[in-house]
Amino acid sequence: MKLNGRALLIIFLVTQSVAILTVAKEFDFFYFVQQWPGSYCDSRRGCCYPKTGKPAEDFSIHGLWPNYIDGSYPSNCDSSNPFDDSKVSDLESVLQEHWPTLACPSGDGLKFWRHEWEKHGTCAESVFDERGYFEAALSLKKKANLLGALENAGIKPADGVFHTMGQIKDAITKGVGYEPFIECNVDSSGYHQIYQVYQCVDASASNFIKCPVLPHGRACGNKVEFPSFSSASSRDEL
Ligand code: 5GP
Ligand code: 5GP
Repeated sequence: MKLNGRALLIIFLVTQSVAILTVAKEFDFFYFVQQWPGSYCDSRRGCCYPKTGKPAEDFSIHGLWPNYIDGSYPSNCDSSNPFDDSKVSDLESVLQEHWPTLACPSGDGLKFWRHEWEKHGTCAESVFDERGYFEAALSLKKKANLLGALENAGIKPADGVFHTMGQIKDAITKGVGYEPFIECNVDSSGYHQIYQVYQCVDASASNFIKCPVLPHGRACGNKVEFPSFSSASSRDEL
């Protein structure tokens, strides 16, 4: 069969479009997840303060996680690019302040940061390298200023004080511009408390966006506590 130039061009264009459509997208957006140390510690699991000491009473970073809009997510994408602590050595004291580890036994943070970079960061290598991953998360934390947004609405960490989910969400939405997803856990008396705050971030890791899909974290009841962290204890102190 003899094909003329026009037919060849059409075949070429069709095969190119199919190829583009079938190349999987690296990811669609990020979840930026912060944890409330008061709720991490005030649960059955308990916590251990980092070797560098008890963190400040502020939200701290859990991770920056690439996600697909169908709710699924890639993980552990590049074993050839493992965490290298020398690439963040000059950021270590800032990371210890804003991304402390509360898991037991007490650590210096390196294990937690390694886990987050290798599981999540390596799935967005088109956006940042290892150092850029940590810098992007630190910059998002500053931008979000969750504690400031809650305090501006009169919501301060305190034990035995309850808020509605509407009050919590409105306060953060006012500060950041988009509604967050709030995950709760349960304190020793069985009350729901704010545990993690998920915010959605565009694929360049710089701007908050409306969440395309909600995560599957444990939802909250309508009455939630925002417990104090300054009065919390670590497992070593109990
Ligand atoms: P958990 O089951 O405790 O909610 O989540 C365990 C871990 O799975 C998280 O710390 C995170 O690494 C990953 N993960 C859970 N849900 C999501 C999600 O919706 N998106 C992404 N990217 N990772 C998630
Ligand atoms: P993810 O749930 O993000 O997949 O995994 C978090 C991992 O980091 C777990 O193995 C957990 O034990 C460890 N980890 C260390 N410190 C912390 C912390 O402060 N918060 C959380 N959520 N996980 C931590």
